[in-house]
Amino acid sequence: MPFDYIPPLLQPNGKKIVLLVMDGLGGLPLEAGGPTELEFASTPNMDRLAAEGTLGQTIPIRPGITPGSGPAHLALFGYDPLHHPVGRGVLSALGVGLEVRPGDVAARGNFCTLDANGNITDRRAGRIPSEESVPLVEKLAQIRIPGVEVEVRQVKEYRFVVVMRGEGLDASLVDTDPQKTGVPPLPVRPATNSPAAARTAELFNQWVAEARRVLAGHPKANGVTLRGFATDPELPRFNDAYGLKSACVAVYPMYKGVARLVGMDIIAFEGEHPEDEFAALAEHWDEYDFFFVHIKKTDSKGEDGDFEGKAHIIESVDAALPKLLALEPDVLMITGDHSTPAKMRSHSWHPVPFLMWAPETVRPDAQTRFGETACAQGGLGTFQAHDAMPLALAHAGRLEKFGA
Ligand code: ZN
Repeated sequence: MPFDYIPPLLQPNGKKIVLLVMDGLGGLPLEAGGPTELEFASTPNMDRLAAEGTLGQTIPIRPGITPGSGPAHLALFGYDPLHHPVGRGVLSALGVGLEVRPGDVAARGNFCTLDANGNITDRRAGRIPSEESVPLVEKLAQIRIPGVEVEVRQVKEYRFVVVMRGEGLDASLVDTDPQKTGVPPLPVRPATNSPAAARTAELFNQWVAEARRVLAGHPKANGVTLRGFATDPELPRFNDAYGLKSACVAVYPMYKGVARLVGMDIIAFEGEHPEDEFAALAEHWDEYDFFFVHIKKTDSKGEDGDFEGKAHIIESVDAALPKLLALEPDVLMITGDHSTPAKMRSHSWHPVPFLMWAPETVRPDAQTRFGETACAQGGLGTFQAHDAMPLALAHAGRLEKFGA
C-alpha cells in the first residue's frame, strides 16, 4: 500500500505532475499483424515524448481482470482496487453526477414489470427506452420520505440511481432483485444486526412502496428493484498521501466523481474538446501541483466499435498537446485507465499503454513511437497501475530515500 510507505518519504517541492488519461486507450489490431488504434493514429507529439521518455504497460486490477472505469481510475491514483473497493451504488451515482457523502446510501435501481400478483415478469421492464423512463424517474424523484432526503436520477433505459441522505443511515443492505422472474421483488433487508441498517431498510421499503404507487398502471415499468447499496468508502486523501495539491479536469461526471472521492478539487470550465481541457489546466496551473486530465471519447469510440473514430480522438489529443507541453510540466504521464479495443466493443483486460516523460530524470529506452507494441517492449515493463503514482513522485524529486 503506497499509503503506508509513501508519506514518511515525502519531500514537497514545487514540481508539477500531469496525469493525462485517455479512457480505454489500449486497443487491438483488427487483423493479425495490423496496427492498434493508437498505432494507427498519427501522433507526432506523443511519439516525440515516447522517444524522450520511457514506455511501459500497466495492469489496472490484476492480470485477466476487465475493469470498470471507477476502479481503473482509483488504481491510477494509487488505490489498489482490491484493497479499496467502492460500492456499485456509489460508482453509479457518481456516473450521473450525484454526490455521495459519508453516511449517504446509494443504490442502483432497475424498473421491472410486475403481474397482477406482484410477481416479476420482466426484470428490466422490457428494456424500456430512455425517452420512456425519464418521465418515470421524474415521478420517482418527487417521492418524499419523512426524515430523509432522497435523490433519484436516470442512468439509461431501465436503470436509475437512488441516493438517500440523513442521520444514522447504514448501507449494509441486501439487494432486492431476486435474479429470476415469477417471484416478487425481495424486500429491502439489513445485511447485519445493526439497528441503523434495520431503520435504513425500513426507509427504503417505504420508498419502494411509494414507487409502486406512482408507477401503478404503467404497462411495463410498474415496479422497481434495488441493488449495490453502498456509501462513500472514505478513502485515504490523495493530497495527504502524496503531499500534493491536486485537481481534476474532466468533462464527464463519473470522472469528476471519482476524483472527488479521493479529495481532488474539480476545475470547472466550458467546452469539451482536448484543447478546452488543456486551456482549463493552463488557467489553474499555478494553483496546483498535480493535474488529472480525463479524455472520455477514446472509450466511447471503442465501445462503438469505431476503430478509426478512436484513432481520430487520439489524434485530436495529440494535436492539442503542445498547449499542455508549453506549461513545462516536470512529469507527464500519458496512459489509459484500461483497454477498450474497438474490435471487442467493450472494456478488456489487456494491459494499458503507459508513457512516462520527465526530462530531468527519465531513463530513455529504445522506443520511439507511442503504441502497444512499443509499450510492451518499453523500459518500464509491465507493472501495476497503482504503482504509477510513486514513480511519478520519484521523477518529481518528491521522495526521499528509504532507509539510510
Ligand atoms: Zn474507462
